[in-house]
Order: sequence, then structure tokens, then C-alpha cells
Amino acid sequence: MSTPRTPLIAGNWKMVLDHQQGTLLVQKLDWTLKDAKHDYSAVEVVVLPSHTSLRTVQTLIEGDKLSIVLGAQDVSAHDAGAYTGEVSGPQLAKLGVRYVAVGHSERRQYHGEDDTLVAAKTAAALKHGLVPIVCVGEALEVRRAGQHVEFTVAQVESALAGLSPEQVAGLVLAYEPVWAIGTGEVATPEDAQEVCAALRGAVGRVFGADAAAAVRVLYGGSVKPASIASIMAQPDVDGALVGGASTDAVDFASIVRFRDHPA
Ligand code: PEP
Repeated sequence: MSTPRTPLIAGNWKMVLDHQQGTLLVQKLDWTLKDAKHDYSAVEVVVLPSHTSLRTVQTLIEGDKLSIVLGAQDVSAHDAGAYTGEVSGPQLAKLGVRYVAVGHSERRQYHGEDDTLVAAKTAAALKHGLVPIVCVGEALEVRRAGQHVEFTVAQVESALAGLSPEQVAGLVLAYEPVWAIGTGEVATPEDAQEVCAALRGAVGRVFGADAAAAVRVLYGGSVKPASIASIMAQPDVDGALVGGASTDAVDFASIVRFRDHPA
């Protein structure tokens, strides 16, 4: 049985834009997409600003009733308390944040986040009504050793351990090979399909066929307007997590409109 999965294109601004630049980007993005409002019903468009820009972007989205959806780049595993510098699930939820990235490779690489912490953040996001975008991906050595499927499946199994099939059905996985992030080195559509299908298969084995049919699996890693259509043509790829190209409104809008490109 196959379930229709709404494609999701999420822009991870990383630590690139301040709140004024972020506001301008969202205005320009909506303006660029607005002559085809149907884009928003066919594709869910999400932006993940820095925490410092969330309030401003939320105000713009709510005030102008934009269809762009707000996300965040990280969430604390803790609900509240003495955790200097962290931002909690309840704080994000109160700001109207719907999605949150967890386990991004830059968090794993530069902030020592391991699978245990990623699982705790995934559970924290769900507890507070946020939709986690659980990021997994292998380093170049792992791919060269031919271990990329086992490696990413193990990351997913660890991140989702203990969740219910219903919780898993509603979340988002993102396959982001580390060697493709910010490098200009995009995985081939077949590479993306191989791992996205394997991740869906792992969800099916652990959480059942309904969860596997419903969970959305994104590809991320140097996605550009020229590469998005062939990636989205893969049956197990439900969208993209876009870094660099999401900070340019014209490029990001073009990626959102992947259906207009030849595959
Ligand atoms: C990312 O940060 O998740 C990402 C995929 O970045 P880029 O598109 O720049 O490779």
C-alpha cells in the first residue's frame, strides 16, 4: 500500500543570515512563489533560520499569513533549566516552530553530538509537538568502504528507538551524506534512492508497513536548481534539505518548483 507523501523542501540557513536578511529572504521567497500559490499545496516549504531570527520570521509569517512553515536548526534534549545557550522544545513550540532538525552532521561533527543525544533530541521534539527532521549520513571513508547503507540504517534505528509507529509515521528523515554537504559534490539520484529506500525499509522492519509508507525521507547535500528534479524523481525521495542554495530566494524558489524542471 502506498501513502501519498507531500513533498517537503526545507531550507537550512545555518549561521548565514541575520534576522534582517532572513526577513528579506522570506519576503522575496514568498513574492517569487506567490504567482503560483498552488506551489504551497503541492509542496511544503520550510525555512530553518538561526534561533536569533525565529521571532522575526514568525512575526512575518503570521502577520502576512504566509504559507511558508517555520523550523529550527536544533533543539535541546532538556525541557527547561540550567542549560546555558540551549533552546528548548517548549520555547520553540511557543514561537510557532513546527519542524526542527536534529542530528545534522555539523552538530555531530563540531559539537560532539552522538546517536544517544540525537535520540534524546528526537524524543524531546516529539514530546513538545515539533516534527523532528532526523539527519543521518556517512563520511567519505564509510562510503568508500561500501558501508553507507549499514551505517545510516544504524543511525536511524538508534534515533528512533523506543518511538511508536505513529510517532515515526509523522516524522521526517534526511539522508545527508557528509561528503556532499557544502562541497558542491551532489550524490547521484541513484545514490540518494539507494539510501532513502534502505532507511524506509528499516522503518518498515521495526515500525511496520504503515509507518514506512508514511514517513518522509529527504535527501540533502549540495542540492541546486539543476539537480533537484532528478533527485525528486526517485520513488523514495520525498523532498530535500537544502543548505547553501536556500539562502538565495530565487534558487530556493526554483528548487521548490522542481516539478517545472525536466528530470
Ligand atoms: C545542509 O546543511 O543540510 C546542506 C545540505 O547543505 P548544502 O545544501 O549547502 O550542502
